[in-house]
Amino acid sequence: MLPVIALVGRPNVGKSTLFNAMTRSRDALVADMPGVTRDRHYGVCRTGARPFVVVDTGGLSGVEEGLDALTAQQVRFAIEEAQVLVFVVDARDGLMPQDRHILDELRRSGKPIIAAVNKTDGLDEQNALAEFAGFGIAITLPLSAAHNRGTEDLIAAALPLLPEDVHEELAPDDAGIRVAIVGRPNAGKSTLINRLLGEDRLIVSDVAGTTRDPIRVPLERDGKRYTLIDTAGVRRKARVEEGVEKFSVIKTLQSMAAAQVVVVMIDARENLADQDLTLIGHAIDEGRALVIAVNKWDGMDTYQREQCQRALERRLVFVNWAKQVFISALHGSGLRELMRAIVRAHTSATRELGSSDLTRTLERAYEGYQPPLVRGHAPKLRFAHPGGSNPPTIVIHGSRTKHIAPAYRRYLENFFRQRYKLEGTPIRIDFRDGE
Ligand code: GDP
Ligand code: GDP
Repeated sequence: MLPVIALVGRPNVGKSTLFNAMTRSRDALVADMPGVTRDRHYGVCRTGARPFVVVDTGGLSGVEEGLDALTAQQVRFAIEEAQVLVFVVDARDGLMPQDRHILDELRRSGKPIIAAVNKTDGLDEQNALAEFAGFGIAITLPLSAAHNRGTEDLIAAALPLLPEDVHEELAPDDAGIRVAIVGRPNAGKSTLINRLLGEDRLIVSDVAGTTRDPIRVPLERDGKRYTLIDTAGVRRKARVEEGVEKFSVIKTLQSMAAAQVVVVMIDARENLADQDLTLIGHAIDEGRALVIAVNKWDGMDTYQREQCQRALERRLVFVNWAKQVFISALHGSGLRELMRAIVRAHTSATRELGSSDLTRTLERAYEGYQPPLVRGHAPKLRFAHPGGSNPPTIVIHGSRTKHIAPAYRRYLENFFRQRYKLEGTPIRIDFRDGE
């Protein structure tokens, strides 16, 4: 399960700048997908030796009242879920009284704290650090988030403080496809899981579930095997009706990371919300195969169904490769089609692609349409080879590839997608210059 690191500090000290620097690597996949909404607060950092969830807590002012108190509640939730806290302070402002209040709060959690003294660019680092020495935080590091200086050291300092990586035995192949079912509160996740497993199975799995980890529940249907990555949140929900605030992006990210296929559940009776798009964006960021389950299809008349389908088509155009399945978790309709879409997405995501065939496909794509000239020179694409699966990754060697426009990347992606019938999975294309 992905560990969690939270960035905490006053407003304007540079937390979101740091967050962006830490999560930037993920941009590669979604940068070229217009329409993907990014989450300003939650991301996965993959630049260090071990991936982790980063939470930008937005900001504690140190003296919370009214609306601020509500925000502070969310911050506390993040602190609760994190294993390491990065306390960000501003070298230009120096030590502020609110910093003290926030640090007191962090210390109450008993979790390891690293102080990141930001905005040290153009300042004397030693002086800057000295000012915050009074905090007595053993690991106090200089940082310039805006110039991406010190981020690597910060990550390297944080990783050893995380709990041991319990290398959970990856489900062996015979345990089937690992599936995470995610969605907003009330989309129908628990109802679907219950329906798939049968009521008693879920209750049984719940007994052992005192841990907050996503647990794995085996499922067999129509002779196919699956492992449901069931989040603690979903299970708890099945037992006690809980409020919307229990929705945890962190747990959702963790279960997505552990899955091969992500099913994003959408409530057909609600308008598509930003949060739905953000969940889809996270799934793509993670490179996961994706199925969109439009739930509560029962009891809608033809007009409502058409309206709904049209809206989905319009707003989900950026994931038009993901199958939309219309289901009723309550009545159990559409589930066979759902499972079939999961299998197909998994097959696409793990399909083995051969180098010579990829290169031939690349040549055909290149002949059909060449990237536009850059100052009189065309970027050249020479050959391709596979670079991994789930998501299928295609490494393309050439020259001047950094000038390749997003539109051309999309063209190539679609070309490969059609050639290999890669339905239900994002595709990653890595360009490399030189040999
Ligand atoms: P947050 O409210 O803590 O998330 O702070 P932001 O990340 O939004 O940053 C607040 C301001 O500080 C912005 O204007 C940033 O450009 C600036 N800033 C962030 N990091 C640095 C840094 O390393 N050096 C300098 N000079 N400015 C920075
Ligand atoms: P979760 O928060 O995503 O786990 O959602 P639940 O499974 O708890 O479902 C929320 C509510 O929607 C419950 O009242 C369910 O009975 C209802 N619900 C779930 N699936 C369906 C469905 O397919 N059709 C209808 N009409 N209601 C559903």
